[in-house]
Amino acid sequence: MRDTAQAADLLSWYDQHARALPWRVPPAESRAGHRPDPYHIWMSEVMLQQTTVAAVKEYFTRFTTLWPTVQDLAAADDARVMGEWAGLGYYARARNLLKCARVVVADHGGQFPDTREALLKLPGIGPYTAAAIASIAFNRVETVVDGNVERVMARLFDIHTPLPAAKPELTEKAALMTPGDRPGDYAQAVMDLGATICTPRSPACGICPWVAPCAARAAGTAAELPKKTPKKPKPTRVGVAYIARRADGAFLLETRPDRGLLGGMLGWPGSDWAEEVPDHSPPVEADWRDPGAEALHTFTHFHLRLAIRVADLPRGSNPERGQFLPPERFRPSDLPTVMRKAFDLARASFVDMS
Ligand code: SF4
Repeated sequence: MRDTAQAADLLSWYDQHARALPWRVPPAESRAGHRPDPYHIWMSEVMLQQTTVAAVKEYFTRFTTLWPTVQDLAAADDARVMGEWAGLGYYARARNLLKCARVVVADHGGQFPDTREALLKLPGIGPYTAAAIASIAFNRVETVVDGNVERVMARLFDIHTPLPAAKPELTEKAALMTPGDRPGDYAQAVMDLGATICTPRSPACGICPWVAPCAARAAGTAAELPKKTPKKPKPTRVGVAYIARRADGAFLLETRPDRGLLGGMLGWPGSDWAEEVPDHSPPVEADWRDPGAEALHTFTHFHLRLAIRVADLPRGSNPERGQFLPPERFRPSDLPTVMRKAFDLARASFVDMS
């Protein structure tokens, strides 16, 4: 049976304390029947996969300024979109963003479908994102469970099964709590509660709208929940990146293959990344220098130590890999973070850039 009283308590709290987010319709307007733009909710949810709200706000504002509608985004230049995404990470999301925008325009007349089932068929939209869009944009009764919601449910019901094994149980609890009235606001309210009150380290139970029914609060176990199965330590991989500049200031870059890590993004030519540096050769014959620094970066599943080699190339140089990007078109901000770190370390090796 759904617990509508507790949902109502949370919604009253949300009416007072909802976070102001650029993609959100504030609760007063939502109660008056205003719905958010599904394009905005979709964009924000894709960006929020694996990324914090604080980091997403600026990107969301820039993307929706550059491409105010899904039609604008569908017509955008791929390289421009990938460049604007640089720094946000998990680059498959950017490729899927474009694919999805094009499918919505080509197959759905520019309108996002309004059910979880139909949303799930779009590129880059998994079960969580489909439920979130159906709930927030279309006010459907869906169970929306992100990390914040998992933490809140584990505490509210004092569930000690470690994650990820606890996911089905936490989802079941979350489903039972979701009300038929204002489900979109409710989904956002639980997330806000987790982000602002029921925080990972020090939950502010004294000001929580769910303090009375909260089982972990009563048991004194809130701060230790949710339990998590310890993660295996991440392995370290190594590789080499070659940063070359031609006499006219053009840099030698390549677009990485669509599939795989940093797929579709600009990058420096180099070796694959493995436990030991794999066999490889530089993209062009040159007098390669070692600036004596490595770019260090951590991906989801491994740490990377990327050695750097730097060279000045004459005009007429003929590389086996990559293309020269003229200085007026080269924006370091278009590079994914690890490639930008490598560039920052290499700059000092180019006399006029140090
Ligand atoms: S009472 Fe405390 S632990 Fe329980 S939901 Fe509220 S903030 Fe979280």
